[in-house]
Amino acid sequence: MSIEIKNITKRFGNFTALNNVNLKVNDGELIALLGPSGSGKTTLLRIIAGLEDFEPRDGTDILFKGKSVVGDPIGKRRIGFVFQHYALFRHQTVFENIAFGLRVRRGNERLSRTAIKKRVLELIHLIQLDTLENRYPDQLSGGQRQRVALARALAIEPKFLLLDEPFGALDARVRQNLRRWLRKLHDEIKLTSIFVTHDQEEALELADRIVVMNEGRIEQEGMPSEVFHKPKNEFVMDFLGNVNLFHEREDGSSVLGSENTSDLLKKYFVRPHEIDLVPPDNGGRGLPAVVKRVQLAGSLAKMELVDADGREIYVEFSHEKYNVYQFQVGNSVLAVPRKTVVFDDYAI
Ligand code: ATP
Repeated sequence: MSIEIKNITKRFGNFTALNNVNLKVNDGELIALLGPSGSGKTTLLRIIAGLEDFEPRDGTDILFKGKSVVGDPIGKRRIGFVFQHYALFRHQTVFENIAFGLRVRRGNERLSRTAIKKRVLELIHLIQLDTLENRYPDQLSGGQRQRVALARALAIEPKFLLLDEPFGALDARVRQNLRRWLRKLHDEIKLTSIFVTHDQEEALELADRIVVMNEGRIEQEGMPSEVFHKPKNEFVMDFLGNVNLFHEREDGSSVLGSENTSDLLKKYFVRPHEIDLVPPDNGGRGLPAVVKRVQLAGSLAKMELVDADGREIYVEFSHEKYNVYQFQVGNSVLAVPRKTVVFDDYAI
């Protein structure tokens, strides 16, 4: 089912948390709201859920499958929620926790005991905790608890799933496993879902589409490859991965990001993997720098350099490329940007 958000503005007192936000989420999509702390991600999620109101204005609306839901009670929106610290009931088993939303139903929505059992067991299977249904939350790992939280949200057969930093409290490895698991689950059940994260890697790996937020506005939305390779502005470029800032001087030479703009022509950005390094006696043009740190563990060779003014440059090579010169800490080099990005509105 699709979700459409039209011209949503939200103020807390004088503070504008959301500034005229428009967004369409297509049926079956998995969307990441990505942005720094305070950019309005959670507020937007809460407004979609009906937990928060917004400024009534002309043209303002929230539509589920083309139908306005403004004014509808929260229960009617039928949304599954998963939070960072999802409080499972400590004195209830995995089974009972997942069954909760089904057991509190009233009237003709209520299922028989047998139907509840069937549904819960199906969900336990879906989250791959088949033998753990009688465990209590404190007998589970953090990742397992978060999977139970997800099953609990799915039990009520929601029309949408909203996830607010669902893996935020977990360690890096568990986080990565759960991410892949959630992506697979999403591909199986195709439930329209929005998740909030400030982790760009998580957004890039998991989402069909990324919505980059900043100060209550959407800076850019697009497929992960699009926002990564074609950022619309400096903010998006900087937020989606490491970036080096250079300034070009009038004489054509380059310096690293500098506050003194008097003799600088333009500002440009270079990703760490778009910089070449050559020995200084190579006769080439580039920014003189010294290797400060080399990190060879992992899939890439990562280097930190400093220029004459002590400003840092980050460079990433494949190991094959690194092996050509095998730069060591203390070596002098020339840093040569291979692909630069200039944003018109940031040109000096
Ligand atoms: P985080 O990643 O830290 O959770 P976020 O992008 O989800 O951040 P929000 O929680 O949406 O940000 O908050 C957006 C802004 O609105 C913040 O500056 C926050 O302080 C403010 N805000 C949120 N809720 C309230 C409230 N109830 N009263 C006043 N200000 C609020």
